[in-house]
Amino acid sequence: MRRLTVELGERSYPIWIGAGVLGELPRLLEEASIDNRRKLFIVTDEHVAPLYLDKVEAVLRTAGYMIYHSIVEAGEKAKSLSVYERVMTEALEAGLDRQSAFLALGGGVVGDLAGFVAATYMRGVAFVQIPTTLLAHDSSVGGKVAVNHPLGKNIIGAFHQPRLVAYDTELLRTLPSREVAAGFAEVIKHGLIWDETFVEWLEQNADGLQRFDDNLLQEALLRACSVKVAVVSEDEKERGLRAILNLGHTFGHAFEALCGYEKLNHGEAVAIGMVAAAMLAERLGIASSISNRTRRILEQYSLPVALPYVMEADAVIEAMRRDKKGEGGKLVFVLPTTIGKVEIRKDIAEEPVRDVLHALQE
Ligand code: NAD
Ligand code: MG
Repeated sequence: MRRLTVELGERSYPIWIGAGVLGELPRLLEEASIDNRRKLFIVTDEHVAPLYLDKVEAVLRTAGYMIYHSIVEAGEKAKSLSVYERVMTEALEAGLDRQSAFLALGGGVVGDLAGFVAATYMRGVAFVQIPTTLLAHDSSVGGKVAVNHPLGKNIIGAFHQPRLVAYDTELLRTLPSREVAAGFAEVIKHGLIWDETFVEWLEQNADGLQRFDDNLLQEALLRACSVKVAVVSEDEKERGLRAILNLGHTFGHAFEALCGYEKLNHGEAVAIGMVAAAMLAERLGIASSISNRTRRILEQYSLPVALPYVMEADAVIEAMRRDKKGEGGKLVFVLPTTIGKVEIRKDIAEEPVRDVLHALQE
């Protein structure tokens, strides 16, 4: 098992990554001061539950924990106020109190939902992330938790750090290939914003990683999480630096929203968004010849690099102006200056953005 620490003073917490981390869960919980006198409430989804819920519950019961669970529908739909309310109701009916803890067993959807429930249940209780997707290396670290509003993604949320992230790489083996690719999009993003040597390493090890060689996989997760940890430790509440994690996301969120969150998943939308950001940076003259390398690495990981559906530039721009990262309707982008470095640019003119959107449909 490998360990990283998110340094946030008294809210610091460990991230454990490895094959078989689940078996160690009782010990890790105890270390995080969640001992077996506390009730645990597991939130998971209908795909993950049949695969892993019994196993997690068995490990915890053996250690003497009292456990409840809620199984939500799979997919982005579960990040809604109605599902949030249902989980709250079930937790109340189970008699959870302020000493209890929520465990998110699943991908980013379950993590964001359970985290927001934990952030607000009786004004905030402990929660633990047990990520089961590759993409969740990103969502499980950093404490952003939220549900969606029909008018925008992640609009109803909070900052609430987990007490522990327990990342068992064995659980990733059942992921559908499209979800694996989507997870690699965020892994690649962490390289592109921070660390060119990591990008090179990802280029060189694309085959082994996609075969899920366990050593490579652990290394990739460790390095990607390290970038996230470094950024979050410096800027927990997104007052400045943390915004660089949104590379590809201004475009990506708009693409996702315009597809109704269904046809493109988050990672795929971000992949296309990172290509768009590279093209925009080139058009604005702040970077040169980076979009080809960006496209190439994403293609190595079976990710889309152009829009699979026609999207009106006007509609995309309008969606981007509505994005909560935009300030007063201005277009704010994280743009690469070279591979491994980015800048935040505010108030970009529409014209070059429009050009990029047209080129992306070709
Ligand atoms: P997800 O949670 O929907 O999981 C993807 C799919 O894989 C689902 O159908 C799920 O049931 C299934 N699944 C999960 N684990 C599995 C396993 N081990 N085996 C088989 N199937 C499995 O999606 P995701 O891609 O993990 O996360 C996307 C969400 O994360 C988005 O809502 C996004 O907004 C959010 N996110 C949040 C942050 C943050 O900082 N909070 C960061 C990035 C993304
Ligand atoms: Mg993301």
